[in-house]
Amino acid sequence: MTPLVDVYVALGSNLDEPIAQVRRALDELDRLPLSRRIAASRLYASRPVGPQDQPDFINAVAHLRTRLSPLALLDQLQALEQRHRRIRLRHWGPRTLDLDLLLYGDEFLTLPRLQVPHREMATRAFVLLPLLELAPGLRLPDGRRIAALAEALAAPGEVEVLPDDAS
Ligand code: AMP
Repeated sequence: MTPLVDVYVALGSNLDEPIAQVRRALDELDRLPLSRRIAASRLYASRPVGPQDQPDFINAVAHLRTRLSPLALLDQLQALEQRHRRIRLRHWGPRTLDLDLLLYGDEFLTLPRLQVPHREMATRAFVLLPLLELAPGLRLPDGRRIAALAEALAAPGEVEVLPDDAS
């Protein structure tokens, strides 16, 4: 059986009550097979990357411990995205939940469907700040410290923590 592995998953949503979307997805991550959610960051709000004529994003990072293989975990994350997407397609518009596998233990993976560590995680404030909150001493598999990467961010102020009772 696959050993228990510590993984970190980034969540993002900017449509259809994104705070509720992210909270629901955090609960769903706690119910994935062969997995347990160890911790979840607070919710953060960030300006969108790219076109600015869209709502702010709500972001969070979850720490899971899993026996799923990397691709089995990706399948689960994509199925969860699809379930949110189905609701969105029926009632609202496209795209309500984005789930990215940031880290799978200390592994480097370059597969057609999966690159780990996630290729943009080292430069994105909306990933690094919630990750830093969860795991201040964490290093990437190449040895770089999350804390140092967060300090080097060009515009960390574009991300802010939401109050616990935000809705
Ligand atoms: P996006 O919707 O922009 O997040 O991209 C989703 C695509 O990225 C999917 O086709 C995944 O197979 C691929 N992908 C590659 N690496 C990762 C990763 N670390 N986490 C999530 N999706 C990934």
